[in-house]
Amino acid sequence: ATMPPLLSAVANAGRHGVLVKSAVVMERLGQVDAVALDKTGTLTEGTPRVTDIRLLSGSGLAEDALLALAAAAEHPSEHPLARAVVDAARTRGLAIAGMRDFTSTPGVGVTATVDGHAVAVGAPARLLDGHDDPGSARAAEVAAGLEDGGRTAVVVLRDGSPVGVLGIADRLRPDAAATVAAFTRLTGSTPMLVTGDNPRAAARLAAEAGITGDEVHAGLLPQDKVEAVRRLQARGRKVLVLGDGVNDAPALAAAHTGIAMGRVGSDLALESADAVIVRDDLATVPTVIALSRAARRLVV
Ligand code: ADP
Ligand code: MG
Repeated sequence: ATMPPLLSAVANAGRHGVLVKSAVVMERLGQVDAVALDKTGTLTEGTPRVTDIRLLSGSGLAEDALLALAAAAEHPSEHPLARAVVDAARTRGLAIAGMRDFTSTPGVGVTATVDGHAVAVGAPARLLDGHDDPGSARAAEVAAGLEDGGRTAVVVLRDGSPVGVLGIADRLRPDAAATVAAFTRLTGSTPMLVTGDNPRAAARLAAEAGITGDEVHAGLLPQDKVEAVRRLQARGRKVLVLGDGVNDAPALAAAHTGIAMGRVGSDLALESADAVIVRDDLATVPTVIALSRAARRLVV
């Protein structure tokens, strides 16, 4: 039997490793004329590594103790940065203590009680904001230095005082630049980068992928990502959002079409998306858009 063109396109997309949830989604994919990409886990491989461990004076902690403390708090988190911290502690053979009272705030970081201490790990811009004591100023300075070097800096606080800063680096996916170029050809405009990471690391990585200054939107909370998408929609654009994290879920849901990265993606992102990349290959997305456009030509 012959399948309707959009359904064969769904099957075809599946062969390319993109799980499209319905024929309606397949049709909408062919309509997109703007793209918003998340950074960590989407444009990058999503397996970042801890590259720098900076102790802040007065904490009395050694490098291993700092890393073990951060890893204990990050342990329950599914964020790629959390996995980087836990992996670094394991690689050093450190014991990861138990924790209580875990909380996680998308775009900000985590908190937990470890050995009776309140520990917070996360974005310096969020966790140090409004603190003007010398310790926080020093932590912000150390973080800015790491960010200038293209790192994502994560600050560790114990009982409200910064005790150290970790530098974390992730690699661009090998197919990121080619995919950005393909999106640009298909939609007539450069994709927009929407990230919760710091502007310095974001700009550096975006440039490597061929995304220029104006299209880089950094320091965004999940709701800010939605607003960036809505601004494009207000100008009549049909926006494709590509993301992997809990922080991307609202933007994936708000998009004309949302696609989640299957391998590194969080459960919430997978649920909020209309399609899932199961083979971890970003470059299949422009291919699937082209498939949808071809199928729609057969339908109309
Ligand atoms: P992206 O938009 O690039 O995927 P996120 O919104 O997930 O990034 O995170 C934004 C920032 O929030 C990170 O760069 C980091 O500073 C901080 N952050 C979020 N979750 C965590 C976590 N589990 N551990 C440490 N930092 C975190
Ligand atoms: Mg992400």
